Amino acid sequence: MTQIAVLPGDGIGPEITAQAARVLSAVAPDLTLVEAPVGGAAYDLHGHPLPPETLALAQNSAAILFGAVGDWKYDQLERALRPEQAILGLRKAMGLFANLRPAILYPQLAEASSLKPEVVSGLDILIVRELTGDIYFGQPRGVRTVEEGPFAGDRQGFDTMLYAETEIRRIARIAFEAAQKRNKKLCSVDKANVLETSQLWRDVIIEVAKDYPDVELSHMYVDNAAMQLVRAPKEFDVIVTGNIFGDILSDEAAMLTGSIGMLPSASLNESNQGLYEPSHGSAPDIAGQNKANPLATILSAAMLLRYSLGRENEAQRIEQAVAAVLEQGLRTADIQSEGTQLVGTSEMGDAVLRALG
Ligand code: NAD
Repeated sequence: MTQIAVLPGDGIGPEITAQAARVLSAVAPDLTLVEAPVGGAAYDLHGHPLPPETLALAQNSAAILFGAVGDWKYDQLERALRPEQAILGLRKAMGLFANLRPAILYPQLAEASSLKPEVVSGLDILIVRELTGDIYFGQPRGVRTVEEGPFAGDRQGFDTMLYAETEIRRIARIAFEAAQKRNKKLCSVDKANVLETSQLWRDVIIEVAKDYPDVELSHMYVDNAAMQLVRAPKEFDVIVTGNIFGDILSDEAAMLTGSIGMLPSASLNESNQGLYEPSHGSAPDIAGQNKANPLATILSAAMLLRYSLGRENEAQRIEQAVAAVLEQGLRTADIQSEGTQLVGTSEMGDAVLRALG
């Protein structure tokens, strides 16, 4: 029995997860889906955004299908009890160090991008971002007083960029393996001309590449990568990079598509257990109105099948059904354009189910 934890969360989370769970059950009826509260919904029920029962369910499942968490009404809570802490808690407890974010622009939605359609139409890239290390977590960090020199007496903020080679090696393996399943091109992004951490990053990536001779490896400085992503994004297949560079580049890549309601994501640990969620938030402004686009969450379910369960055929069935529904001209409000047919969240789910055949 393969168990999947379904954590709908807040805002539009329950609506979009319900559609993704229907689609997942339709392509893989053998999976057992078990639901639990998370985020603000869990705080309301149990006084904590990640109750022990929810964490235990997640840890004992092959993968987690996650909606979204957060609502303005929880903004007054102390930080440790805010809904967003649930994601951080899951990442930490489960060692989810690899973040996979595809940026796909379906040709039918090319007009949604702020770039010229010919630059982005058909875009399909995957950003693999290291998620648990780098300057975001490195010690020491803090604010101190400068003791000497021209700034003596000033307050000075400092952080530490750190990567151990094991951390680099394991994210590299995830990226090379993802590239093997795609167009076999991997671009490693760093700042090796300036940073020692990046030089080690590059050295270790080159070592790991020896185990993947079928993947074509290139290296790019992060400033150049930021430019190339808007100049010729279709040149990329898979990008692997550290936490801070990946944070920025994955948002840049998401914006190339212009449709946040379409973008799935995955966070994996060493045993391929993963958390799968849309890249957008809980959209409290449209919650409960059957307006939210469920496709990012449905595509997250496809990633779940591919990366945690190794079920490529079922993953592709879902992705092809989503493409077919767009081809039919069905659109939720966020991706609507002239000449298309407006549908709600549940109708979009129905259409994907029908397109599965
Ligand atoms: P958001 O992504 O929730 O919404 C931004 C805008 O995009 C809104 O206008 C929203 O209506 C629209 N939108 C988002 N997803 C959509 C969808 N599937 N279909 C149609 N429209 C969609 O970002 P925000 O408004 O900055 O944040 C709202 C809440 O979400 C906050 O509490 C924030 O902390 C939380 N948040 C959670 C996550 C997460 O759970 N991983 C990520 C980001 C933000």
